[in-house]
Amino acid sequence: MITIQNYVCDAWQVGAAPRVSLLNPATEEVLAETSSAGVDFAATLSHAREVGGPALRALGFAGRAELLKNMSAALHEHRERLIDVAMANGGNTRGDAKFDIDGATGTLGYYASLGRKLGNGNALWDGESEQLTRSARFHGRHLWVPRQGVAVHINAFNFPAWGTFEKAAVALLAGMPVVSKPATATCLLAYEMVKILVEAEIMPRGSFQLIAGPARALLQELQAQDVLAFTGSADTGARLRAGPGPVERSVRVNIEADSLNSAVLGPDLEPGDGVYSRALANIVKEMTQKTGQKCTAIRRVFVATGLIDTLQADLSAELAEKCVGNPAEKGVDMGPLTSADQLRDYRTGVAELSRQARIVFGSAERVEVRGAPEGKGYFAGPVLLRADKPEAAPLVHSREVFGPVVTLMPYDGSAARAAELVALGGGSLACSVYSKKRAFLAEILPALAPYHGRVLAIDGKVAELATPHGTVLPQVVHGGPGRAGGGEELGGLRGLRFYMQRCGLQGNRALLEKLLEA
Ligand code: NAP
Repeated sequence: MITIQNYVCDAWQVGAAPRVSLLNPATEEVLAETSSAGVDFAATLSHAREVGGPALRALGFAGRAELLKNMSAALHEHRERLIDVAMANGGNTRGDAKFDIDGATGTLGYYASLGRKLGNGNALWDGESEQLTRSARFHGRHLWVPRQGVAVHINAFNFPAWGTFEKAAVALLAGMPVVSKPATATCLLAYEMVKILVEAEIMPRGSFQLIAGPARALLQELQAQDVLAFTGSADTGARLRAGPGPVERSVRVNIEADSLNSAVLGPDLEPGDGVYSRALANIVKEMTQKTGQKCTAIRRVFVATGLIDTLQADLSAELAEKCVGNPAEKGVDMGPLTSADQLRDYRTGVAELSRQARIVFGSAERVEVRGAPEGKGYFAGPVLLRADKPEAAPLVHSREVFGPVVTLMPYDGSAARAAELVALGGGSLACSVYSKKRAFLAEILPALAPYHGRVLAIDGKVAELATPHGTVLPQVVHGGPGRAGGGEELGGLRGLRFYMQRCGLQGNRALLEKLLEA
């Protein structure tokens, strides 16, 4: 059994008892144990601020871009071993594991290529300089500079690789050192990745530290120049936002929480056409990839009344083909949920939803499983529900079941009505819309935009080319308003702003114009 260690103050530290066991969710075999008890959180954060921050900023953007490139390459070299770890501890199929791990190395690589174009300095202009008075000499211009504190990253259990390194890539490029805390249940993968990076000796001292276990006291230590980026449930996010750091010391906080993401099928779709097929494929993928444990996964599908029966039949046929089981076995399409708690919540959630919607495919109580020891594993089958009166089913728009569960709902075919129903989710991370009619898409996109961080429009021209609904790309912002946490990450250079302070400089135009020249 592996004893996971914390990496703090440039040294490995075994946490004190009691330790948490990490399991293989397909077999319930214990793989590892971990604890962060005994770690001096105040010293960890000080080390980042005092040693890591200056070391990173001495590199400038271009040097930090090189660091990200080297991190990506070092991790990629161990890809096969990391996939095995994700399959064992995360219940991932091989495809799920690659999605997480390649997402991590790809995002590091993307920010390396962005950073190379930013030069050797640490500051970025925001907009042009503007004349402030009648004199042409006195100007104002905004400058972004790295914050001088530490970036604390708290992540959810479903993406231990991507979650850790999509955040780290942006913070490190901006010039902030990172203290990363993955969710305890699946932190074996993040631990193995950090071990690779430490052994490769590529990260400056103090620039990256890992807390591998529950760390409720960590956030008590946050100071005014620090930032907290959290990904997880809306409840935890709300609790952390109300903590002493954010409230008393204005610690900047970004929350990526859960959401009831939607797909909207336009009234013009017909079975068999490319756009309809893409919608069908995306819904199935969102239900089964990572066993539906994705913050961006489709939970609600709005489909024009005339098409709902056909879609229900087609989805049921596709889902019936999916094999649930131990990802170590050949032919398994969908692994288990990550933990006993998640399985409990999935069952409770489906029972709650089925008070307001009827189950039309699958069951939360029974599932046929391939290749797991008898009675073991946290397996959940895909469940399709249907609510014919969307507004009479408030739970469908508010209760996130973090698993392979989708509810189908009809609408009258008007873009405005579909957007109104989608908005009942209270703000989401992602929505995908499928139509061959430009007028339908042109009407619905601006109506959906206020309620989303990202909207994917699939017409006949891009049906074959588009990325899947749930795939988060570093070029495009990730986050969403309201229920989704109100946060924003990634989006190319936009993501750096969270880790930087914008300062309005006023003074001599000539001074401002030459300020960033080497
Ligand atoms: P969670 O229970 O809210 O936990 C998230 C993280 O917060 C874990 O690392 C957890 O640590 C930590 N944590 C909890 N309380 C804390 C406290 N008082 N102080 C410091 N850390 C604390 O969420 P989860 O069950 O891991 O993840 C599932 C949820 O995340 C779903 O609702 C999903 O929609 C959401 N999610 C959102 C996104 C997004 O980008 N918007 C992405 C992925 C997942 P321990 O594990 O040690 O308890």
